[in-house]
Amino acid sequence: MRVTVLASGSSGNATLFESGASSVLVDAGVAPRALEESLVSLGARVPDAIVITHAHLDHVGHAARIARRRNVPVYLTEATSRAVQLPAQVEEYRFQTREPFEIGALLLEPLPVPHDAANVSLRISDAASSAGLATDLGEPTGALLDHLRGCDVVLLESNHDERLLACGPYPFYLKRRVASSRGHLSNRQAHALLRRLGPRAHTVVLVHLSSTNNTPELALEEARDALSVRVAVHVAPARGTLSVQTTLERLERGGEREAASDTRRRRPIQLSLL
Ligand SMILES: [Zn+2]
Ligand SMILES: [Zn+2]
Repeated sequence: MRVTVLASGSSGNATLFESGASSVLVDAGVAPRALEESLVSLGARVPDAIVITHAHLDHVGHAARIARRRNVPVYLTEATSRAVQLPAQVEEYRFQTREPFEIGALLLEPLPVPHDAANVSLRISDAASSAGLATDLGEPTGALLDHLRGCDVVLLESNHDERLLACGPYPFYLKRRVASSRGHLSNRQAHALLRRLGPRAHTVVLVHLSSTNNTPELALEEARDALSVRVAVHVAPARGTLSVQTTLERLERGGEREAASDTRRRRPIQLSLL
């Protein structure tokens, strides 16, 4: 499965998951024209569906336009549907916050996460591998850790540095909102979750970084400190795309497959930063 972050941060979020003939776009915070340009440059098809995590504009803002322009259905929860109110012409499907569902060959497993809008993280799997996406959450939960432990690739919010947020230019009410248990995950909180991630993940992508209260260097330093050296760590750019693969090539030797951990140490991941 190829996972491509198309946009990340408070100005827009969108991530494409592709496996074989199936693909889904999670969140639609990218304009239709920019999406189409990205799909062309990636050699990707129009996604089979748009899945919305929650009703904030940086996640759902362009969903109706993309859906209407390319005739793509939109999957969302009841609470998100009520808050967004998509136009009647958009084909809409509901999913439950804890019930797995399928789109083509992909299995999607949602899990509620604490935020100031009803929000879900998503684990998306094909027959061979899984990727987890968790963004816009005020605190890491035990259930989320369990959700992400089975993933080969983890995309995790690392929104702000707590000191930069406290000393920065945001008004007090906004600082309080971002730092609250229903706000956004700090670098320190991401570190706490990543430390307990377990051995399966070979790649971590830090997403939804604040351009005001964080730097890629600070977020990377904190995440790397939490993870084994064999785990590749990337920061998703606010603009431009970042692709990672969930399945690493495996070496066959003497008819026996090498242990994944050995293989992972030797084989570089496929990565393209455009
Ligand atoms: Zn957001
Ligand atoms: Zn949000």
